Amino acid sequence: MTETTPVVTDDNIRAFLTTDHQLFIDGRWVAPSSQRRIPTENPATGEVLSHVAAGDATDIDRAVMAARRAFESPDWTYLPPAERAKLMFRLADALEAAAEEIAVIESLDNGMPLSSARDRAVTGAVESLRYYAGWATKLGGETTTPSQPGEWLAYTVREPVGVVGLIVPWNSPLLMAVNKLAPALAAGCTVVLKPAELTSLSAIKLTQLSEAVGFPPGVINLVTGTGAEAGQALIDHPGVDKISFTGSTATGKRIVAAAAGNMKRITLELGGKSPTFIFPDADLSRAIPAAAMSIFGHTGQVCAAGSRLYVHRKVFDAVLEGIVYRAQGLVVGDGMDPATEIGPVISEGQRNRIIDYIDSGRDDAAEVVVGGSAISGPGYFIEPTVFLETRHSMRIVQEEIFGPVLCAMPFDDDEDLDTLASRGNDTIYGLSASVWTRDISTAHRLARRLKSGTVRINSALGVDYAMPFGGYKQSGWGRENARVGVENYTEVKSVFVGL
Ligand code: NAP
Ligand code: MG
Repeated sequence: MTETTPVVTDDNIRAFLTTDHQLFIDGRWVAPSSQRRIPTENPATGEVLSHVAAGDATDIDRAVMAARRAFESPDWTYLPPAERAKLMFRLADALEAAAEEIAVIESLDNGMPLSSARDRAVTGAVESLRYYAGWATKLGGETTTPSQPGEWLAYTVREPVGVVGLIVPWNSPLLMAVNKLAPALAAGCTVVLKPAELTSLSAIKLTQLSEAVGFPPGVINLVTGTGAEAGQALIDHPGVDKISFTGSTATGKRIVAAAAGNMKRITLELGGKSPTFIFPDADLSRAIPAAAMSIFGHTGQVCAAGSRLYVHRKVFDAVLEGIVYRAQGLVVGDGMDPATEIGPVISEGQRNRIIDYIDSGRDDAAEVVVGGSAISGPGYFIEPTVFLETRHSMRIVQEEIFGPVLCAMPFDDDEDLDTLASRGNDTIYGLSASVWTRDISTAHRLARRLKSGTVRINSALGVDYAMPFGGYKQSGWGRENARVGVENYTEVKSVFVGL
């Protein structure tokens, strides 16, 4: 990391980056109790971009207490759902109005191309807030008819689960934060948000906007800091009713252990090693670019990235040729350069981790057909990489690399769908899968056999708020999006009335 001031021309953004960022607790910006700061860098240059506050257990405790007071305060508890929705719509409008500024901050902090920050991150976050704002007025219980003797009125009520800790990763910082904040608010919860230490800036901006639109103090609290300190304190805190987490499976397991203390509710969106299957009858003109971008897009730092590719032998060479052609043509560079299609990976550590995986593939005698190296110079860049001659036992086929590295494998006519599905299912993960064929029976029979939270037929990646998203097996617990995504922030109460 080098200590230089980044070249940013916009005055507002420059002022934001040079601000001494604080924590947001109980409606006020406060210094961290440790007085410590964490530098955050621009992964395209390795330069320090800004500094954020290093919150610790003392700050987490203050934030959780504030969230508890807000949760119990009539200003929030008795706020009609339509008023809650109005605040959320206002936050969406404020985010939209500040879109360009936030997109630049997100691109500088995370490395993603500015166009992705605009069109995917900020636009997605606005859409997410509006989608969930709609749910605030639509959550409710049911009336049922008990079979016990007597005459009854029996109904269920959905109540907010309480104080929720939101812990998000660095790969899509704003969108991940909003995808948790929005359903939590819609359900009537109060929150403590802990962003990733590498990418906290957009969460700070989001919190500033939430303050401006008038959420009551303590409803939204922000504690930046490290996972080991702030994150661990949040998952251990007995005053937290639920943790909503997106990140690695390893941290997910720590959360499961920590939650046992007070039996916190948990939703976990974890890693993946998602397969793409291409059959010989597929529309290759769509399948090839989709399969390529599902692993190279966002530099492969996508939980649902299509990192394993199974192609029928009849079209294997044609598909590989197309993917290699795309890998070679992609413009890898600084996210702020309009020509850039693929940005850097998030950090030096992450670049080294990906290179270790590539080396392990070579050691296991897999063949690199394109890419395979880091790109030298400032910043943390990796060539889009494709491996052939891989076997199921290899680390590069089993483990999540979280970089632009694809493992391609052929399948044959004599392989039935059960065998093919079992190859697809043979990792600890089960987040997403893509199936490319024009045969509807093959498509649906394979979809049925895949142990995967999402199966996409003739399409790749992309989430939709109307469709639940989450993982089988070690890809997670619970689902985000849709009705189930909001209901995960509620408790169900059964009320029996003997008449
Ligand atoms: P990570 O290390 O698990 O970090 C995720 C978040 O957890 C960060 O805010 C991190 O803080 C925090 N954290 C770390 N240790 C903690 C602890 N002991 N207690 C509480 N919080 C702690 O994951 P990452 O490396 O940032 O993100 C990449 C991973 O996320 C990949 O495995 C990817 O598949 C997964 N992911 C999944 C989805 C999905 O929807 N399924 C989406 C995106 C990413 P610090 O960063 O400050 O340490
Ligand atoms: Mg950064």
